[in-house]
Amino acid sequence: MNGLDFDDDMTEEGFVDSGVDTHAAEESILQLINALGENPEREGLKNTPKRVARMYLELLSGYRSDPQKVVNGALFNITYDEMVIVRDIEFYSLCEHHMLPFLGRVHVAYMPAGKVIGLSKIPRLVDVYARRLQVQERMTRQIADVIQELLEPNGVAVVVEGLHLCSMMRGVKKHGARMTTSAMHGSFRTNPSTRQEFLDNISRGAGPLQV
Ligand code: ZN
Repeated sequence: MNGLDFDDDMTEEGFVDSGVDTHAAEESILQLINALGENPEREGLKNTPKRVARMYLELLSGYRSDPQKVVNGALFNITYDEMVIVRDIEFYSLCEHHMLPFLGRVHVAYMPAGKVIGLSKIPRLVDVYARRLQVQERMTRQIADVIQELLEPNGVAVVVEGLHLCSMMRGVKKHGARMTTSAMHGSFRTNPSTRQEFLDNISRGAGPLQV
C-alpha cells in the first residue's frame, strides 16, 4: 500500500480524525523490533515502525467510523416484506488476543419492515466492526445489532465464518479449522422456517474458506 491509497481511505465518508497516536505507535514498534532481538537499523526494517503504525490506522479505523455516517442516508422507505440476503461479504479483522488476522465471510439477512438499506452499505457496516481488535462472537453480534438499530426490521440474522491465523500459525496447526458464529433477532429467532430459509440460502454453493 502506498501513501496515496492511505490518504484516500481516510477521506471516505464515515472516517473522522484517526485518534491513533502514530508517533507513540512507531516508538512501540521500534521497541518491539529491538525486544525481538532484531536490528531496526538494517535496510529492510528501517521504515517498518512507520509502515506498521500507518497500517494500524487503517486496520483499526472502525473505532472512528460512525455507522450513521457510513449509511449516509442510504435508507429507503419501500414496501417490500420478503427476506433480503447479502452473502459472502469478505472481512478482515484482528483478533484481540494475539493481534493476528482473522478473516472470512459474513452473511446478512433481514426482513424489512418499511425500510431497506443500499446494498453497498452492508459491507461498509461490516468494516466498521471488523476494523477493530475483535473477537468473532462480538463482531457478529455488533453487526446484527447495528442493522437492527438502523432499519428496525422484523428480523435480522448474521452468520460469520472465520479463519483465525492465531490458531493456524501457532501450536497444533489446524489449517482448515473455521469458526462459525451467528446472531439472530426477531423473526429469525422466533420462526424456524425463516431461519432455515436463510441458512439454506447461505449453504448453497458455498466453497471452503481459504486464506
Ligand atoms: Zn487469537
